[in-house]
Amino acid sequence: MTGDPIGELVALLARLPGVGERTATRLAFYVLESEPTLASGLGEAFGELHHRVKRCRTCGNFGADELCHVCRDPRRDASVVCVVARVPDLVAIERSGAFRGRYHVLHGLLAPLDGIHPEHLHVEALEARAEAEGIRELVVATPLTVEGEATALYLADVFADTQVEVTRIASGMPHGGELEFTDQVTLGRALAGRKKV
Ligand SMILES: [Zn+2]
Repeated sequence: MTGDPIGELVALLARLPGVGERTATRLAFYVLESEPTLASGLGEAFGELHHRVKRCRTCGNFGADELCHVCRDPRRDASVVCVVARVPDLVAIERSGAFRGRYHVLHGLLAPLDGIHPEHLHVEALEARAEAEGIRELVVATPLTVEGEATALYLADVFADTQVEVTRIASGMPHGGELEFTDQVTLGRALAGRKKV
């Protein structure tokens, strides 16, 4: 701790994505000039985040319990699983309302040049699920980037000799675009137009 509490807060906020120093300064003064309950509420929510949020033991989604709300929902089609790189992508697909199956979050993409190899992704768990849950289709909804494509091809290879069909969301999404920032209609179309890898 230095003797500059506002400067410390600004420096922390400025580390968040999309928040530059100017925005960080504006946020810090906004909180300072608001009711103290805002600052204490934010402090508590941030402080308990890692403690309260768990990774779903089945799919890797984040939630407050051992099983996430999607895995707990018996109305979801367990035979179709959408594979995403990150949880915000799952959230974007859920928001589109275009998918009624379940998910599997890889928590990354293959990037051999950056040292991210298959064993760093959540793939073994996916193979185990395919067997145990009778999955018939994996819809790979990784971004349309080099890493996203490499990951889709890798998954197609892993499941090549199984009953599981590996499909890929259709292009039409902005190339290299993050799912998270793709509009709901485009995402829905990309899912509906998926093709076998
Ligand atoms: Zn889950």
